[in-house]
Amino acid sequence: MITRVAVVALTALVLAPLSAQQPATVSLIINNGIVITVDGNRRVLNPGAIAINGNAIVAVDTPSAVASRYKATQTIDATGQVVMPGLINTHTHAAMVLFRGLGSDMNLMDWLNKVIFPAEAKTLTADFVRIGTELALLEMIQSGTTYFSDMYYFMDTVGRAARAAGVRAMVGQTVIDFPTPDANTHEEAIQRTVALAKEFAGDELITPSIAPHAVYTVSAAHLESVSRTARQLKIPIQIHLSETNDELRQSAEQHQARPVAVLDRLNFWAPITVAAHGVWVNDSEIALLKSRNVGIAHNPESNMKLSSGTAPVVSYRRAGVNVGIGTDGAASNNDLDMFEAMRQAAFQAKLVTGDPTAVSAVEAIEMATIGGARVVGQQDRIGSLEAGKRADLIIVDMSRPRQTPLYDPVAQVVFATNGNDVVTTIVNGTILMRDRKVLTMDEGTVLAAARGAVATVRKAIAP
Ligand SMILES: [Zn+2]
Repeated sequence: MITRVAVVALTALVLAPLSAQQPATVSLIINNGIVITVDGNRRVLNPGAIAINGNAIVAVDTPSAVASRYKATQTIDATGQVVMPGLINTHTHAAMVLFRGLGSDMNLMDWLNKVIFPAEAKTLTADFVRIGTELALLEMIQSGTTYFSDMYYFMDTVGRAARAAGVRAMVGQTVIDFPTPDANTHEEAIQRTVALAKEFAGDELITPSIAPHAVYTVSAAHLESVSRTARQLKIPIQIHLSETNDELRQSAEQHQARPVAVLDRLNFWAPITVAAHGVWVNDSEIALLKSRNVGIAHNPESNMKLSSGTAPVVSYRRAGVNVGIGTDGAASNNDLDMFEAMRQAAFQAKLVTGDPTAVSAVEAIEMATIGGARVVGQQDRIGSLEAGKRADLIIVDMSRPRQTPLYDPVAQVVFATNGNDVVTTIVNGTILMRDRKVLTMDEGTVLAAARGAVATVRKAIAP
């Protein structure tokens, strides 16, 4: 057994010559920024510096401490700018950006049944999904999202597009009890999931998953089959859960129970289960979700726009349930800006509880970063700026009129910043956007393809 003293002595021996004489060479140093680490001590280093080597963070410290130990082949000066973990969008349907603006001012069930499901049935192909996902990826990179949990169709295409753009993602094959553009039967959806798990097994950026749409659109037998598949393939599950009061009514009709009880009766939960929304839950259901290690993807903007209700975020957090933030699809938001979602999560909680301390700026930023990482089971790799974690981070301009003056960086990020203030986005140590210029995608090509796809949608929805 190596004692702690021995380890310290050994480390000192190895590091002493480096720190005393020769700084180690790393690939990137981000210097002199206001570093919001979101680590366990909620450290904010002002100024701070981050050393990155390859895909990993090797040091987060003061600029002088980092300079004494490391020199870099590339340096970014972040003076006056905020450096923070990339935002984690725990629930979205990326390609739905192509339906952005369709069917406003409706409730969820009307919006789905009258607008979205029919439009999807007539338009979705692998290529349509690729074009939509690329548009979404562009928006996400430009607004500081470095990870997204996606549930949609043609998820192999989504995974490949995200990997090519350099964005981390969980891609969930939709399972729903009607024929879809990528699966005519339940068995076909399961086969697609198996293929997805195989294609992305061990992938650094992409996590395959399975995504049953909801309790009211998937039968009990098929929910069981989903659960079995997730366990066999060792992949996470994503599901819409207790999103609307109408869902509770349908669940009672179809399953004679509330959605959480339906799933628990089926022993549905996987080691990692992401439940989107979780609006209509009572205290005993919150306790049960905690005991089953279910994470909540809270989507305040979508819930407000569709008038679905308000997730009891404060109760979840008090019960120790992991809560992350999501945008949901852009068609019910209507954008993928996680800064806005973060702000609305804080405002909504303050409004509905009558307590201005509910979801503080610090809590909101935690939910959008490390909280989201816990929800998707990636807390050891992403979600905070700490040595040993993957280098997923963003640099945010704080010099614009709307950002001035700057007293409290955390409050400023949550209450005054939006996605357009992000200047640089880095995932896995790779710079995806530098000074607002996206490096991994051609913006003109993506926008032109998206405008082309809109013609298909217009034709599909024409009366
Ligand atoms: Zn959704």
